[in-house]
Amino acid sequence: MSLPLTKAPPSSRWRLERSVFLWQLLLAGAVLLLVCIAMTIPQELARPEMFFFGVVLVFATTAAAGVIPWGRLGKKWTILVPVFDIVAVVILRTGEPSLGSGFFLVLPVLWMATYYGLFGAILGPAVSMGALIGGLFLMDQTSITTRVAGALVIPIVLVFVSTATFLGTRKTQAQRVLLRQQAELLESAFDRARRDERTLDQVMNTVSFGVVAVNRFGRPTIVNSTYRRWLSAFGTPATSYFPAVDYGEDGVTPLEPGERPHERMLRGDSFENLIVWYGEPGEKRLALGMTSRPLTNAEGQREGAVMVSRDLTAEIDAIRARDDLVASVSHELRTPLTSILGYLELVLDGESITGQDREYVDVALNNADRMLSIVSDLLLASQEEHVGFLLNFAPTNLAVLAKQSIQSLKPVADERRISLLLTSIGSPIVYADEFRVRQVIDNLLSNAVKYNHTGGRVSVAVIGDEREVEIFISDTGRGMTAEEQKNLFQRFYRAESVRNSSVHGTGLGLAISQEIVRAHEGDIRMSASSPAGTTMVITIPREQQEE
Ligand code: ATP
Ligand code: MG
Repeated sequence: MSLPLTKAPPSSRWRLERSVFLWQLLLAGAVLLLVCIAMTIPQELARPEMFFFGVVLVFATTAAAGVIPWGRLGKKWTILVPVFDIVAVVILRTGEPSLGSGFFLVLPVLWMATYYGLFGAILGPAVSMGALIGGLFLMDQTSITTRVAGALVIPIVLVFVSTATFLGTRKTQAQRVLLRQQAELLESAFDRARRDERTLDQVMNTVSFGVVAVNRFGRPTIVNSTYRRWLSAFGTPATSYFPAVDYGEDGVTPLEPGERPHERMLRGDSFENLIVWYGEPGEKRLALGMTSRPLTNAEGQREGAVMVSRDLTAEIDAIRARDDLVASVSHELRTPLTSILGYLELVLDGESITGQDREYVDVALNNADRMLSIVSDLLLASQEEHVGFLLNFAPTNLAVLAKQSIQSLKPVADERRISLLLTSIGSPIVYADEFRVRQVIDNLLSNAVKYNHTGGRVSVAVIGDEREVEIFISDTGRGMTAEEQKNLFQRFYRAESVRNSSVHGTGLGLAISQEIVRAHEGDIRMSASSPAGTTMVITIPREQQEE
């Protein structure tokens, strides 16, 4: 049941009633003291019946203050109590002015100025003054001092008391409001912080990647449920946030102390997509791609670190499955292809075939040849370890190789009006595998033509010094974005735009070329790329060990 709006709720009602009674009790106490003094001083009261009536009125008002349910009546009615008090005190004063009971007026005036605002602050002194002046007429013989005190001094004192109390109360109330507002603000800030923390917690435990954060003392502050699940799947106790052993990218080499991701995180290292394997080789395993960053506070000081891990097991398994499939398919295709090539060559060697038929067979032979080289590349690329290169090192003239490569590409380049230019400075001779290095130059030149514009230019420069020979292959093609440059040498990587175009390729050319050049202890890199073109550089050192 709800109370009518005008009425105060029970607790504030009780507070109001108690406060009225206590204020009244104060005056009653003071009057009781006055009565005791009057009784002990052997002196005739000016008007005993008035004094007695005043005392009775104070106690009657006190009784009323205690009995009347002010809470139910409403606060505004309680002002009657101090008004009655003022009248009673003035009657007391009329009974015997010399006892100084007029000062008791301070109590009801204080009360009114404290609780009834400006209205109470004005009403208190006004009622007092009216009553005091009225009281003067009731007195038998009034001295001039009593008259002045009653008409002027006491009211002036009361006005001061009332004003000071009113102002003081207003200030206290303003401070109380301010304090309450600040408390509310603080509470809502706390609420928000708690809510944010809860949200963060829920988000952390919903995401499918692992999150570990440590504070600056290295103690874990977040280990989200995904990461905890991974850890417990490999028998890590709940008290630890890293497994007993973790393996490197190859999946078999245990990571050295100091190189383990959690140790690097504690050191404040930044790393990205570090591949780490959990679980023993041959058993159930988990491959994680881990990224870590140090955390800093607003002043830029280190506050700890965070490490986010992604489950890459399925991705790595899929890549392996693709490589296995590619390896077996290309391997199986090679035998029938070799046979086709052999028979086509036999046909062409014979005299029986002439004219257009010979042309057709020639085209078939060329395509079968190309198919065989693609299949061989695929096979090579799909092998996990490419150390199996069989290189036949011999003195090789790289300028001659570049020239041959240009010649073989000329028909394709001519079709798109792309000019091919060769320059050579210094000695171009190195110790290398001629067939493989030619393959590298072919790959790079074919890219320079493939990704060029119609009417473009490709220039090849072979530059030899004492230590090495460098081959610069520059084109005026489409260039590469930063993302493309980063992935250029990855197996099967082809730029998004290229994949959607009519330019064919497997994305293996550069990966294979890099393998070959590295087997020569050389290097292959992109030296420049802009929308105006790309320059690739192959470096083959002169010092070669015959293997
Ligand atoms: P293939 O295996 O037949 O050579 P591919 O040419 O697509 O196929 P890569 O030679 O390895 O593969 O090149 C990888 C990718 O790098 C290309 O798909 C292309 O997006 C980009 N790229 C390589 N060379 C250039 C170049 N000169 N200009 C612009 N992009 C290039
Ligand atoms: Mg290529």
